[in-house]
Amino acid sequence: MENDTPTIQEFEYKAEMKQLLHIIIHSLYTHPEIFLRELVSNSSDALNKLRFKRLTDSNIKDPEAELKIIINVNDKDQTFSIMDSGIGMTKEDLIDRIGTIASSGTLEFLKKLKESKQSLDANLIGQFGVGFYSVFMVTDEITIETTYADKESKTFRWKSQGDDKYSIEEIESKPRGTTISFKLKDDFKQFAQVYEIKNVLKKYSNFVDFPVFVNNERINIVSALWHKKKEEIKEEELNDFYKFITNDDENPLGHLQLNIEGNINFKALLFIPQTAPRALFQDIFDKSLQLYSSKILIQDNCKELLPDYLRFIRGVVDTEDLPINVSREVTQSSPLMAKIKSILTGKILGLLEDWAENDKSKYEKFYNNYGSLLKAGINTDFSNKDKIIELLRFETSLKSKEELTSLKDYVKRMPEEQKEIYYLFGDSRELIEMNPNLEYFRKHNLEVLYLTDPVDVFSIPYIFEYDKKSLKSIEKSDLEIKKDIHEEKLADEQSKNLIDEFKKVLADRVEDVIESSRLVDSPVTLVIGKQGLDSQVEKMMQMLDKNFTNSKKILEINTSHPIIKNLADIKLKSSLSATTTENNNDELLKRTILQLYEGALLLEGKLGSPTEFIKRMNEFIEISTKKV
Ligand code: ADP
Repeated sequence: MENDTPTIQEFEYKAEMKQLLHIIIHSLYTHPEIFLRELVSNSSDALNKLRFKRLTDSNIKDPEAELKIIINVNDKDQTFSIMDSGIGMTKEDLIDRIGTIASSGTLEFLKKLKESKQSLDANLIGQFGVGFYSVFMVTDEITIETTYADKESKTFRWKSQGDDKYSIEEIESKPRGTTISFKLKDDFKQFAQVYEIKNVLKKYSNFVDFPVFVNNERINIVSALWHKKKEEIKEEELNDFYKFITNDDENPLGHLQLNIEGNINFKALLFIPQTAPRALFQDIFDKSLQLYSSKILIQDNCKELLPDYLRFIRGVVDTEDLPINVSREVTQSSPLMAKIKSILTGKILGLLEDWAENDKSKYEKFYNNYGSLLKAGINTDFSNKDKIIELLRFETSLKSKEELTSLKDYVKRMPEEQKEIYYLFGDSRELIEMNPNLEYFRKHNLEVLYLTDPVDVFSIPYIFEYDKKSLKSIEKSDLEIKKDIHEEKLADEQSKNLIDEFKKVLADRVEDVIESSRLVDSPVTLVIGKQGLDSQVEKMMQMLDKNFTNSKKILEINTSHPIIKNLADIKLKSSLSATTTENNNDELLKRTILQLYEGALLLEGKLGSPTEFIKRMNEFIEISTKKV
């Protein structure tokens, strides 16, 4: 060193870092042992990176040094240290990586959590790695000494008391790797006990791919579980392995072990988590499969191995066919990866088919968690579209809310003369069942699928056809249904006159007014013309685009309904007499028509302002109560 007195440089954390520290320390206190998991997992990552670098780079410091993790505790001094012979850190790494937060999503998430005054449960902690800073829960000062893996690298010491500053100084050169050490606060002195550390590590670190020593005692058996034969793996091992790679608290819902040999060779151990992570539908959740090449981890979060709609799958894939020094860019465009992806997809869908057939309650659990995601495959995975369609389950008019049906079962129940598969969108079963468009189908016992999942509007219409029968929204005007013959309906002439009156009053509010052949109990209903969109689709569009305007609908009127017949009578009377009652009658006719129309809008959740509607309703109530 040129200078005899080594310089210590002081740095300040970024503002958001301080916030994060504060939140972590105050929300993790129920799980102080988390710090150990974070430290071991960082060491394991560092060793993986080193192992990878060693394959391609000859300029490695201490190339022969054994890859291992050594933890030392001393209960007298209350001290803890963890050392690894991994990749180490340069001075820049210490500044860039230790002083900042990896994912902005994590900070957002923690902030919200703090606002809502919830505490972190163990499962959530698992979903969001809280990182190195969790160590400040159990200590007041951390020291890191680290040497990067290039031959000429120097050794640096980083120190911080977790307030708003940290310092870095260059120190006497040490072997490659990182040592992190600190003195435990009194409240956490149990972590200076060997048995306590062993206990925690059993839970979190049994599958670390490198030897782990605690006070010179080797505590884990290193084995790549996916290389074992199926018969040799115990259920418990699978569950433990799953928890190790995901940090999940629960056992997985199911797993799939593959050993593919032939043109393509790979082994895989895949899991479906019991419950979907809370952030699965947002982008901040970025865990995926781990890609190994001959037992060496080459990519931690390999999105190229699964289609997006199966992104809930966790696990490992290990192939000998990839060159080990493969870069991320190569894996992204490699035909081998595309083939593995296609095999994995087929096998996973096969597993789901098997559950759907033979383990209905498991499948239901799966579907409740991941069904919405699976549906995205209909639009994106053309080669598996048919398989995905078979896996869909729906609520339907002929079954109770709990009893979901497949399209296959629906078709089996279809009467011979029924040509189309009927569905209706809605926010809930209850709202759908109030829809007048359902009346005809209810009367004739025709089954209608209830589409209540918000993503249905983007996927189900794109099925187009199943078993040569087209899927049809019963909101559409052009249904091929047999007309009911109502003996008590209005005469044609009267009906025509009344329809003209409706058209005059509603004018350009509607596309058309027609006589209905589907209504039974309701006087009117709105249906979609040839060009229009389902009302649920329109609602979605409005949410996405404030300027989106709804298309005009067709109003169908039920000419055998008492209200409609009364209106026809009023119309007839007012055209016969030219007295002052005419005006009153015309006014009543007009108001009733508007009220019926707005009532239909209200049912669809599309009535903008209820002011006029309520005003008219009160007038009608006044009239009808006056007679009593
Ligand atoms: P994460 O592990 O989620 O990235 P951490 O806060 O735990 O977040 O760690 C931040 C970064 O610090 C790591 O990504 C890594 O680059 C570096 N780091 C932490 N521990 C070690 C270590 N033992 N050896 C080498 N680098 C490390």
